[in-house]
Amino acid sequence: MLVNKCFISRRRRLCNLLQEKGLEVLIITQPANLYYLTGFTGEAGALVAMRAEAALIIDGRFTVQAREEARGVSIRLQKSTLPEAVGRFLRAARVKRVGYDPAALSVAQFRELRRAAGGGRVWRELSGLVEGLRAQKDPSEIAQIRNAARLASNVLIDILKLLKPGVREFEIAAEIEYQMRRRGASGPAFQTIVAFGERSALPHARPTGRKLGKKELVVLDLGAILGHYCSDITRTVFVGRAPERIRHWYRAVREAQAAAVAAARAGVECGEVDGAARRVLAGYRLDRYFVHSTGHGLGLEVHEEPRVAQGQKQRLKPGSTITIEPGVYVPGTGGIRIEDDVAVLPEGSEVLTRVPRDFIEL
Ligand code: ZN
Ligand code: ZN
Repeated sequence: MLVNKCFISRRRRLCNLLQEKGLEVLIITQPANLYYLTGFTGEAGALVAMRAEAALIIDGRFTVQAREEARGVSIRLQKSTLPEAVGRFLRAARVKRVGYDPAALSVAQFRELRRAAGGGRVWRELSGLVEGLRAQKDPSEIAQIRNAARLASNVLIDILKLLKPGVREFEIAAEIEYQMRRRGASGPAFQTIVAFGERSALPHARPTGRKLGKKELVVLDLGAILGHYCSDITRTVFVGRAPERIRHWYRAVREAQAAAVAAARAGVECGEVDGAARRVLAGYRLDRYFVHSTGHGLGLEVHEEPRVAQGQKQRLKPGSTITIEPGVYVPGTGGIRIEDDVAVLPEGSEVLTRVPRDFIEL
């Protein structure tokens, strides 16, 4: 049977971590982590990762899929609820020191798991172990994100042609998601953001029926999932000729974004990258309008480790793949954000998204 080498090597790295932490078992239930460690793409299940082997516990909907996708792990069909099945498995395997992620189980699920596993076990909370591995991408993962980033970039460029006065936000959002799927994406990586005029001041605006006016800002923030990996890009354009105030904001955000992209190097603290953007905006006296962090990790999920935010001590490494997306949001007037995806390399970095950053007036 063909066994995918990358999944095996990821499980081996995880086992080494378990050994370091003195654990015999880690219970994993987050779908992105299940895929990362086994190749299984079902949306429910649990991987019981032990030092010598791993068992994937799933329900009847996923039997065929799990056998096809998850090679090199034993597959167990759950006959009860998932927590109870995992608990029984632990009891039968006679393992003592069990790690679990409190962020991935509800209190009720954990109680059920512990009851089914029986007494005599030591439970250790362990958050973010697999997420930590996922934060460092290998070249094939970066290639996947690059493909997803190119797809989103091409859609964004094509969609600009549709920005004519009278079009509604939700029409543009629908067209973006349709175009992504037409080009092979399995779907949007998050709810597409389309914001016209004063609504662009809302960093996470949901598309509404608002019509595009004659002289207005447009923020488009979109991402595609392609080959399991996510992309995330934002551009802000102006329909008509922009007033000087808007141009000034745009210059500031563009300069801030360039400074943060330049700062994103292996060995640099994430807080430093955030600081690079924030300092530029402070120079323009616009920093109080920058109301979110500079970026986030990007991979199997659209928001993952590391956080590129104020005070973050975590250092970038070769393989860190992050977004850089400073913005300025003036309530009631409008907002500007520019976002690109950046892969940190052993030497320097690569911007994976490909859309010009010059101010576009349509
Ligand atoms: Zn975005
Ligand atoms: Zn983002």
